[in-house]
Amino acid sequence: MTLPDPTTRLTRRHFLAGSTATAAALFASRYSLASRYSFVQDRVADAAAESARGVHEQVAWLAEPFPLSDVRLLPGLFHDQQEINRAYLHTLDNDSLLWSFRKTAGLPTPGTPYGGWEAPDCELRGHFNGGHYLSAVALTYASTGDEPLRGKGNALVAELAKCQAANANGYLSAYPEDFFDRLRREQPVWAPFYTLHKILAGHLDMYIYCGNQQALANAEGLANWIDHWAEGISDAQMARILKTEYGGTMEGLLNLYAVTGKRRYLELSYRFEQEQFFGPLAAHRDELKGLHANTHVPKVIGAARRYELSGDDRYRQIAEYFWGEVVNERAYATGGTSNFEGWRTDPGQLGGELSLDSEECCVGYNMMKLSRHIFGWTTDPRVMDYYERILLNTRLGTQDSQGLKMYYLPLAAGYWKYFNSPTHSFWCCTGTGAEEFAKLADTIYFHDANSVYVNLFIASELNWKQKGITLRQETTFPEEQGTRLTIHSANPKEFALQLRIPYWVTQGGTVKINGEALPVFARPSSYLTLKRTWHEGDRVELSLPMQLHSSPLPGDRTLQAAMYGPVVLAARMGSVGLTHDMQYDTTSKDIHPSGDPKPAPAPVLAESEVSAVIAPTGAALTFTTTSASERHELIPLYKISGERYAVYFKTQGA
Ligand SMILES: [Zn+2]
Repeated sequence: MTLPDPTTRLTRRHFLAGSTATAAALFASRYSLASRYSFVQDRVADAAAESARGVHEQVAWLAEPFPLSDVRLLPGLFHDQQEINRAYLHTLDNDSLLWSFRKTAGLPTPGTPYGGWEAPDCELRGHFNGGHYLSAVALTYASTGDEPLRGKGNALVAELAKCQAANANGYLSAYPEDFFDRLRREQPVWAPFYTLHKILAGHLDMYIYCGNQQALANAEGLANWIDHWAEGISDAQMARILKTEYGGTMEGLLNLYAVTGKRRYLELSYRFEQEQFFGPLAAHRDELKGLHANTHVPKVIGAARRYELSGDDRYRQIAEYFWGEVVNERAYATGGTSNFEGWRTDPGQLGGELSLDSEECCVGYNMMKLSRHIFGWTTDPRVMDYYERILLNTRLGTQDSQGLKMYYLPLAAGYWKYFNSPTHSFWCCTGTGAEEFAKLADTIYFHDANSVYVNLFIASELNWKQKGITLRQETTFPEEQGTRLTIHSANPKEFALQLRIPYWVTQGGTVKINGEALPVFARPSSYLTLKRTWHEGDRVELSLPMQLHSSPLPGDRTLQAAMYGPVVLAARMGSVGLTHDMQYDTTSKDIHPSGDPKPAPAPVLAESEVSAVIAPTGAALTFTTTSASERHELIPLYKISGERYAVYFKTQGA
């Protein structure tokens, strides 16, 4: 499905009677376009890119995120996750991160190389060490102000610059250039441009979030090398080359163009546009069956950036159609998508697609990136409904207490969570996970000229500098069914609070200002607008009652996940026989538990709706099945740790 146009959306925003007589109102102003903001990578503005503002972006977003440095997480569930990730980033050693880059450049190699996908014989080496790691450091600095970590990132960039200088032609990679010769000769090679994109993006992030000019120079040198490499390759041959995974190369080059204004990078980005993939999407045909999921989501993020930088609506069509197909036809209850890394079925047919290899974490990361663009264009609350779903159920809970990350989130009953080793895995999902938990604050709030969108219920403080306002959000959500906001402003300020009312608030909720309940609320999946003159210390309390509900697997209604509000519940199946080595990659490169991991049958219920036979136990977010057959305790999937679990129950279906 596609998203409706703004006119249609307007009719979906429905306020209960009495809204105009109160402080609540009104949405007319939010559909006038905000002033033409310009953005940098991933739409998170930063002072370092101030000079590039207002030049290249052709599409104004209806609402845009705040600079990451203006939002701080407050103690709580998400802050804990950020800190765990930050601590892990500090544990990595620059000499080890640099080892293969130096080797490739013919420089001395102090220290020891890391293993797994960063081992000196792995064809993807460098993707984390000189790419994801820099992005994660940059995002963490923007999120926390961690100066020692920025210093570590800056030192890494400086050493990478020496490697690039030693290579003498702009090339910067942890493997030799002959990988690209193999690509040009159409000989087997893993994914050279996928890796180069990570390095490009990592350096851009160090420039954007940390103000590192040398990082921008490194990125430009690398892009110039790509430009030179692609010279003389015909479009027909390039189309064949693009069948090898190349990640977000198109997006990275577009972001480099947006930051520098150099059309060379814009022109080069077209070489990485894969018409074979975009064509059907532009024509609203779902031909995703048979494709590798994480290869393709970054291409669509590239289409989103092409739309923003060109204004060509075709690319918006590609992005929105793709998003709708994945979210509505190909996603599990968790919001995640893919099985054995691919889309293997027709739309809406996920029967038989629950496995040890269900939903790769990277795909969740990339779907969230894409969602932010689409929300910015539309402010469609359904996009944030999806974002919340995937954040709580696919990202939260895939990092352990040591900062180690998961690859797949198994959805067949009886499996368990499996994490990378600290220094001998470095999977793709180790990298995207390190970025994810470094930017948990980036979507909580968006704004337009005169309103702030409260998209996510996460304890945090927003400093809206343009308005001179601080907005403090305190909540233990999702353990708490709602949130509290306090406005701090030296002077009275008129603006609108746009409070997200999620899809799962089906029985109504309440909103209070300074303790007084308003006689208004809003429909599920909408924004409730509170527009008034706010004063220092004004308090808003939003109550969002949660209900149990069932989420059937697309294509097989007899398989159902139980949800409580936004949270996917998992049945606890015990830890008998599970050893440490079955839960952690202790060898190298192994993305699965070793041996012969055995699933267990899905719990069977005699009823047709899983939510009808589950009841709270009294403990927070803890439930039990109530049918006469076998009892199961259920807790949020994100809390499952060190035990087997089941997300989907086998029911009689509707
Ligand atoms: Zn991955």
